[in-house]
Amino acid sequence: MEDENEYANMKTTFNNKLNEIIKAKGVNHQIFNPLSYATMISKVEHAKGLKFGKTPADYARLKKYDILEIDGVKRLVVPFFSSTTSSGNKTSSAIRMFVHTDEIFDILHTAHLKSGHKSRQGMTQEVSQFKNITREMIMIYLGLCEVCQEKVAKFHEREIKKSYIDFISMSADQHGYNLILVYLDVKTQFVQLRPLKNTELQEVTQSLLDIFTIFGPPDLLQGNVSNEFGSSLANEVCLFWSDFKFNFIKTEDRDQLLVECTIRVTEILNAWVEANKTMEWSEGVKYVQYMKNRDFNPTLNRSAGEALLGHKFGRSGTRKRSLDQALSDKEEESDAQEAMNSGIDKQDVPIKQYAPKRIKLEQVDNSEVPHLIVPNIKTNDEDEPENILP
Ligand SMILES: [Zn+2]
Repeated sequence: MEDENEYANMKTTFNNKLNEIIKAKGVNHQIFNPLSYATMISKVEHAKGLKFGKTPADYARLKKYDILEIDGVKRLVVPFFSSTTSSGNKTSSAIRMFVHTDEIFDILHTAHLKSGHKSRQGMTQEVSQFKNITREMIMIYLGLCEVCQEKVAKFHEREIKKSYIDFISMSADQHGYNLILVYLDVKTQFVQLRPLKNTELQEVTQSLLDIFTIFGPPDLLQGNVSNEFGSSLANEVCLFWSDFKFNFIKTEDRDQLLVECTIRVTEILNAWVEANKTMEWSEGVKYVQYMKNRDFNPTLNRSAGEALLGHKFGRSGTRKRSLDQALSDKEEESDAQEAMNSGIDKQDVPIKQYAPKRIKLEQVDNSEVPHLIVPNIKTNDEDEPENILP
């Protein structure tokens, strides 16, 4: 009953739209209603029967139409001479039939369901034997199929470029950096890291611009920063694009994707700090970013770098062995504390003492995510500056 109603509604809507097309086309078209279809059959039959005295109109009709009995019903078809092959053979597959308005919906509906919801191109092939079913009619039909419309909506949803923004709190290094900006593209899971000295609007804006001018801005940016900060950020960044504005959404709960990413970043950074026997963690951020994006991602079945670029990311011959080794050592050793101490002469480099306070393995094992620094909100009281682009 439900299905029948759905079918009836769909058919009514289709036929209403079809009528609109017919009205818009005026008289010069090959869309028949049942009456004009029958009338045309009579006229063509009449013209065919004339041995002498055919009028120009008769000739015109015979050029366009022929009559064929298909399944016991007289049908208008494209004349054979139009569809004969070069060798002169008539091919039955070349029969192209005219249909009338009472039939069009059912033909499209049956073909569409039988073919498993084919889209425009597939549908054009499916109904190619019907001479007067047009692309326009197929498009109207597809617009009414809920299954196909849902598919289209989902496709567009997937195409939205969504990114997460986050901050990892660090102990200040000699360069004065005390934070890492984490920018994660959801689709490719490609992560970008930037060391920051503070979370003031200008500092964050510059880092984001650096990212957006290479990789393009997102449609949607999500993060656990205040709405004021988020929208100021969007305003600042969008000054550089005259025709663009991304949306910011405050999300208090971190997405699992972001949580895992942050944990992995801290793991790699910890390994880098140890392998390089340095406390200047900000110098390692770009390598950590590279390593993270080179990680094989089982969900993507490739690395994030590969997902972004569409080709291999990094070459095994150029890997920095010491960092790889440090990482695998870490992963293999069950005792985190031992891993921290292995291979490091603490008397030469007091790593442990100066190691970034947020990236200790104990914390990682507890799945504790580095806490978010609440950004200083800089209210933008001034009038908006003029667009800097010409
Ligand atoms: Zn469909």
